[in-house]
Amino acid sequence: MNRYIIIFIALISVFVSCDEKPSFIDFTYPDGNTKALVLSYDDGTIQDIELAQLFDKNDLVGTFNLNSMYLGVTRGWPQQNGDTIYQRYVPKDSLLIIYKNHEIAAHGALHKNFTGISSDDVLEEINTDLKILKSLTNREIISMAYPFGSTNDSVAKLIVSTGIKNGRTVDDTYAFDVPKNYMMWHPTCHDSKVLDFLNPYLELNEQHLSVFYVWGHSWEFGNEDRWNNMVRFCERIGKSKDIWSVGHGQLTNYLLAINNVQVEEQKITNPSDNSPIWIQLSSGIKKLNPGESISLIQ
Ligand SMILES: [Zn+2]
Repeated sequence: MNRYIIIFIALISVFVSCDEKPSFIDFTYPDGNTKALVLSYDDGTIQDIELAQLFDKNDLVGTFNLNSMYLGVTRGWPQQNGDTIYQRYVPKDSLLIIYKNHEIAAHGALHKNFTGISSDDVLEEINTDLKILKSLTNREIISMAYPFGSTNDSVAKLIVSTGIKNGRTVDDTYAFDVPKNYMMWHPTCHDSKVLDFLNPYLELNEQHLSVFYVWGHSWEFGNEDRWNNMVRFCERIGKSKDIWSVGHGQLTNYLLAINNVQVEEQKITNPSDNSPIWIQLSSGIKKLNPGESISLIQ
């Protein structure tokens, strides 16, 4: 009799363990989120101070693309209509204070147009940024925004050789898709249109990964209406608990880590030299640490 009970229990446990094997649905961002927000701001002028404080107040992370050779100076930019706009840039010795909770990224040392200069000059623009920004912050710099948004395939390829992992253009997509080519990263929209896309993104309910990518310049917020709209945007999206507010570099690193994961029919393996990643299984959200694998239902 005891023997039958043991066999019965063994059979039950086989069924249970089969049931426990989940199926793979999709990758997610950390903690099971599928939505992300990137706020990418160019030039590093002193109006960044107030913008970074607005982000801090709302638990949002910004990515600030700086022109390293202009740090601490004031310079005039001649305009097409004959006017000159004077810009004051953030001081060198305060980067880690102003951008304490935010990503610091490159934007070309002297803000030259990358499609109008030689390959050597493009490399010089980026390598100077990397050298100066690294030495001032002791941080790894892996993101950039193209000055004037100007780029092409050969410029993008050239910049990869410097260790930069993403490059942002100004070609708005008005969509929330994660791009395939991280060096030709087209944003969702300029911040002047940000409220048009707020509700559609808050209401978006999709299983696959998306990103709301906003770009702009803090010096444009001299216009009070524009600033008030940004405050409204940050206050509303900052309250959203299912959107990952993240620096462009951290997002890129996470996506690259997903690309390293081995997905087989019966097993998912996160390589031991990779970062933790999160996946949606039929049984729920699972964090897969480096070196960990999970068996899937056949
Ligand atoms: Zn710029």
